[in-house]
Amino acid sequence: MAKPKLASVWLEACAGCHMSFLDIDERIVDLLGKVELTATPITDIKIFPEVEVGVIEGALGNEEELHLAKELRERCKILIAWGDCAVFGGINCMRNFMPAEQVLKEGYVDTASTVNPDGVLPRQDLPALLPQAIPVDRAVKVDVYVPGCPPDADTIYYVFSEILEGRIPTVPTDIMRYD
Ligand code: SF4
Repeated sequence: MAKPKLASVWLEACAGCHMSFLDIDERIVDLLGKVELTATPITDIKIFPEVEVGVIEGALGNEEELHLAKELRERCKILIAWGDCAVFGGINCMRNFMPAEQVLKEGYVDTASTVNPDGVLPRQDLPALLPQAIPVDRAVKVDVYVPGCPPDADTIYYVFSEILEGRIPTVPTDIMRYD
């Protein structure tokens, strides 16, 4: 029987959740015996095929991220929101207290390390910002929530193991750690 396929993407995120996935260490060999990694930051394949499991790390903060979240949702059977940014919006939501235009100015003009005397804001080179950064389930249906910043490796392994056993997991509170 063909192995179930998995695709993952990081959106408005720091990549820490994918790093935590790699922290499952040698269990990754066991996992790769049971699933086929397709489009992920790990394989650097960018086009999502049809998959059984889709994973989103990160919040949605611009039009491109919104598009990618909808595309992965359409192409997977089970969608996992992975990490506090995907589940709650995370640190990305700090910018929700100011208009999008001011966010760009903060990032591209006012930051102490930026040299931009003419105050030019990037327009065509960047996907348009959404009015606010939002958690994934504000835009698409999420089947499994895995909070944590990042979720620890044991939690990630538990979630994948449960899904491979045919169960939709709810992460038990006693295996969620934030230390
Ligand atoms: S949840 Fe934490 S580790 Fe994961 S992308 Fe967000 S900030 Fe990074």
